[in-house]
Amino acid sequence: MKNYLAILGLSIVLVGCGSVKSNVNDLAISNPIVTALDLTAVNNDRVPVTINPGRFTTETVTYRLPRVVQGTYSVSDFGKYVDDFKALDYDGNELATTKVDDNTWTIADATKLDKLQYYVNDTFDIETNGGGMQGEQPFSPAGTNIEEDNYVLNLHGFIGYFDSLKNNQYALDVIAPATFVRTSALENKGIKSSADGKTITSSYFAQRYFDITDNPMMYGKLDVEEFMVGDIKIVLSLYSPTGKHNAASLKETVYKMMEAQKSYLGDVNSTPRYDIYVYLSKGDATSPKGFGALEHHTSTVVVFDENSSLEGLKASMIDVVAHEFFHIVTPLSVHSEDVHYFDYNKPTFSKHLWMYEGVTEYFAQHFQIHEGLIDNTTYYNTLMSEINTSKRLDDAMSFTIMSEHILDEPYASNYYNVYMKGALIGMCVDILMRKESDGNRSMLSLMKELSAKYGKEKPFVDDNIIAEITAMTYPSVGEFLKTHVEGDVPINYNEFFTMVGLVNGETEVETNYIFAGEQNVVFDGDQAKGTIFFSPMALKNSFWKSQGVLAGDVIKKVNGTDLTMANAQQIIGGMFGWKEGQEITMSLERNGEPVEIKATLTKAYATSESIVEDDNATEDQKALRAAWLKG
Ligand SMILES: [Zn+2]
Repeated sequence: MKNYLAILGLSIVLVGCGSVKSNVNDLAISNPIVTALDLTAVNNDRVPVTINPGRFTTETVTYRLPRVVQGTYSVSDFGKYVDDFKALDYDGNELATTKVDDNTWTIADATKLDKLQYYVNDTFDIETNGGGMQGEQPFSPAGTNIEEDNYVLNLHGFIGYFDSLKNNQYALDVIAPATFVRTSALENKGIKSSADGKTITSSYFAQRYFDITDNPMMYGKLDVEEFMVGDIKIVLSLYSPTGKHNAASLKETVYKMMEAQKSYLGDVNSTPRYDIYVYLSKGDATSPKGFGALEHHTSTVVVFDENSSLEGLKASMIDVVAHEFFHIVTPLSVHSEDVHYFDYNKPTFSKHLWMYEGVTEYFAQHFQIHEGLIDNTTYYNTLMSEINTSKRLDDAMSFTIMSEHILDEPYASNYYNVYMKGALIGMCVDILMRKESDGNRSMLSLMKELSAKYGKEKPFVDDNIIAEITAMTYPSVGEFLKTHVEGDVPINYNEFFTMVGLVNGETEVETNYIFAGEQNVVFDGDQAKGTIFFSPMALKNSFWKSQGVLAGDVIKKVNGTDLTMANAQQIIGGMFGWKEGQEITMSLERNGEPVEIKATLTKAYATSESIVEDDNATEDQKALRAAWLKG
């Protein structure tokens, strides 16, 4: 770390002499690209950006913002948010530039180029659909926010790269009001206060463009909690626009979860610091709409709903942050060349999303049973739910072909299956590994072996990894991957459940007040009439059944608030936070007559088809089950 600083100090001096054009020390190729974001000079909701490379010797250079960023598997087009793009020569005159496409500019007369200046609009303001899947907008956790009291600085939204200088270092200054709280996954190399004390410039350094994209920051009115989980320092930064939530109230949940994750992972090379950035969306027209998170090597950016209850927010944090943190294993430590030498403009995609997303999601569920955070029945129900959801997507699609063509149809619309069938693929391989090794090896031990063989700095060859895994493991694992991951043959999950003494059966599943187990919503709506009513599913939910509701009962009010199509998302979404013991009221209309419900919530159950433990399981089956769940 120390020599970064030494190199940086030296280079700044050299770049400062940029106008001495004959000096060989000022060449772009051998100097950091000096960049600055000025949050004190925001103009019309746009941040001014300066990009100052060293001297070019080529006639023309190409500068781009990313079309795609890693971990998103969709088109973002960050160049669309750039305004007033200017290239200046060493005398401050404008050079001619050509905008080649949404994300690309070429600058002729590049030998005279001193620096680039432009403004960047934020993506949160313009989002219409939460980004990602359609509409070519960034997924919110990859996006940017420019607001008086909050800045989400996913730096790839502000800073681009010269085609010829992708491996150059970057020096970055962020100038902001002194009152702002600031957290950054990039290491802070120093701060400087202005003479009047009103602004502070924070300086950062990135080894290459990848590090610009991999290290987000958040500035503004933040709530920050820092705590240790073993030897990792967790920095939880939260922005709650109305002040409803705070970092302190999530700390215990995050601590408990990450401690269990660390215990599950064991001796995996981890980072000394992990940043969690949580942006809570108010739900306005200019608020971000893509909830979820994006992983980075030492951080994650999370976007959730400000209107959630604390309980709801905690549950979302466990689901989403557990997944992001396990990305430390893959793709962050185990990945192919497509990931390692990522092309932000025309990326090629690895065939192995089953591993990057699927195995990661498998770990995010499996660690909860392994570490005793949930019971067996809850885990079996999660698996059942994944099976059901995966069957609603194309179950006969090769996972490797889907991965490689994930931006195109029909693959793009099956993307969600990487979290469902992908996780189940992880389960099947895990069970096979444990069976073949008498419980000594597992999906996790395999990932650790791969991580030792490859690791953060050494990618595997995309086309070879399945053969390598086969050689490292057992013919049955190779056969499974060939048939059900490369091949398009649907998996018969019962074969795997039999190995661990599980059978299909009926079970009472705990549910909430919106579902009757699974994805069975107890409400339905009539767009034409603008009404929301109970669906026949409501009778399968023990609480609603006990209240005597009937299918077709129109819901007029919930806890005294009129329910309309316009606020349904918010009101029904709010019911996720309803808890046993809480008093609720509901005004219904049945055949034109009013019906009032006034009740204390009792725990809701639904009867559903699931997986249960076989009473007649053999000792071998039980032993394998124990190895799988607790081994
Ligand atoms: Zn993921």
